[in-house]
Amino acid sequence: MTLAVKIPKACRHCSFISDEDKCPRCGNETSKDWQGYVVVVDHGHSEIARKMGITSNGKYALRVR
Ligand SMILES: [Zn+2]
Repeated sequence: MTLAVKIPKACRHCSFISDEDKCPRCGNETSKDWQGYVVVVDHGHSEIARKMGITSNGKYALRVR
């Protein structure tokens, strides 16, 4: 059996993680070459979100190349 595995991609601009070739958040190009991620569930009260400049909830890559 072959499973079609979707490789998540991270936006080069805002680090938002999705399965799309273009970021659904800002429309920029996404990359498969990224490392680590944070899940932001409460961006208004998250220290990490504030440090990374994240203004909406979601999954964000820590480093995108
Ligand atoms: Zn983006």
